[in-house]
Amino acid sequence: MNYEKLAQLLIPDADVKPLEYYEAQYPERGLEKGAEVTRLAPSPTGFMHIGNLYVALANERIAHQSGGVFYLRIEDTDEKRKVEGAVEVILSSLKYFGVEFDEGADMGGAYGPYYQRQRAEIYHAFAKDLIRRGLAYPCFCTEEELEATRNHQTENKLLPGYYGEFAHCRSLTEEEIEANVKAGKPYVIRLRSQGDVEKKHTFRDAVKGEITVTENNQDVVILKSDGIPTYHFAHAIDDHFMRTTLVIRGEEWLSSLPIHIELFNVLGFKLPRYGHNCSIQKIDGEVRRKLSKRKDPEASLTFYREQGYHKQAVKTYMLTLLNSNFEEWLLKNPETPLEEFKYSIGKMGKSGALFDIVKLNDISKTYLATLSAEEMYDFLQEWANDYGTEAQKGYFADKDYMLKILTLYMGIGGKKRRKDFICAKQALETIAWFFADGFHPEYAYKFDNATVKQILSDFAAAYDFADDNQAWFGKVKAVAEKNGFATDMKAYKADPTAFPGSVSDVAELLRIATTGLSNTPDLWTIMQILGEAETRARLQTAIAAL
Ligand code: GLU
Repeated sequence: MNYEKLAQLLIPDADVKPLEYYEAQYPERGLEKGAEVTRLAPSPTGFMHIGNLYVALANERIAHQSGGVFYLRIEDTDEKRKVEGAVEVILSSLKYFGVEFDEGADMGGAYGPYYQRQRAEIYHAFAKDLIRRGLAYPCFCTEEELEATRNHQTENKLLPGYYGEFAHCRSLTEEEIEANVKAGKPYVIRLRSQGDVEKKHTFRDAVKGEITVTENNQDVVILKSDGIPTYHFAHAIDDHFMRTTLVIRGEEWLSSLPIHIELFNVLGFKLPRYGHNCSIQKIDGEVRRKLSKRKDPEASLTFYREQGYHKQAVKTYMLTLLNSNFEEWLLKNPETPLEEFKYSIGKMGKSGALFDIVKLNDISKTYLATLSAEEMYDFLQEWANDYGTEAQKGYFADKDYMLKILTLYMGIGGKKRRKDFICAKQALETIAWFFADGFHPEYAYKFDNATVKQILSDFAAAYDFADDNQAWFGKVKAVAEKNGFATDMKAYKADPTAFPGSVSDVAELLRIATTGLSNTPDLWTIMQILGEAETRARLQTAIAAL
């Protein structure tokens, strides 16, 4: 077989440059020793999985902490999965969570283009070189023929794939190939694998540690019939020429590692270090399974923005999943910027990370409780502008009013900060009753209507907006006493049957009448914030409803 001639036939010289050209075009980066070049290489499907943030954060931390480079490469070789505007979604959602690239798609950089579709020439040049060296060949098998092979393999319990005796086109003669090409038969280019599945090697995975890898024997497709490379081939060439030193990627790629090792080998490239990151899982009833794009809304990054989780909380939570010693560090350094945490690949989980929304909520509550009322105001307003209802946008019309509500609800100035807020959506829903169109009380009292009516009316008559907290409570007590309710809690506890209820029941009635809720922060302060007119109006509405 004249491989040189075959290479010319399949990929003419005019379409590619000599290999040295690319080496010169994309030289070594000349970074300090230890500086890592990492990347995020998503397919532009328009959907950002929480796993994308997870792996992005790991790569970003490692690159930036080592003084290296973190870049974005768009793996758009699969036309069917491509979605318009997907790159914008990737950039903006990662930026929102504070993950920024140094170079890459839509940003530029010396190692571009960063879209695989724009790098066709490089892939062709290297495919041609492999053909020339007898390490790749054209395959004319049709889908039907491949399916027949698959069926045969399944029926006979043989290893699936295109290898050995099943690699039909591996042994085509020069004449057969020429005739097929002349006849216009479509073909793909396959690697002529040199591997042997009987051979196993020890491989050091940066995350999983020592693993055993079986040699590849599959004649995998490297260029599809439209000349577009497969992920396997494209990523090997790109990681080499973008001078990637470390690939942290999802563990779903572990099974392809043997192919990648062989490809780097035949291409004559140094293999970068690989670290296969465990996937994010959740407990679903009895089973532990991967977070699913279809079943779990929390699998999508959009979910966190729509709910209004603070980016810092999400990032903090991701770090607790990523590095086993992060939480301990966070406890000791609650005020220190996350960037100062020393991220360590060695502390990454070797098996599945368990996603726990309760924990994320806890972290979110704790984080939001460190904000000032002003910061919370800005955070909520920004969210409301993007995702809130028209009514929620309106909550920000009177800044002073909103700041008072937030100060109360966050326990600012009190003995201990409250942790009522989890995310922006929930926070605005929690305080909605402060606003006319969010106040829809159901008035679930524990006493009969006549008693409630009497108590509310007595309080309304005694109420004076100018009263301080103490004087106000004095009046609540007086109303309780007048209606036979206990004001001495000791006496009440000694014999509860002697009273219809206690002063705290009276306070609860007033609370329900004013807020619609039985559980809120301090009621006197609430009445102060609502203002005299609104407080009186609410009491009257409650009385009228009885
Ligand atoms: N395009 C691949 C994906 O979206 C990238 C895998 C890798 O990081 O190498 O899963």
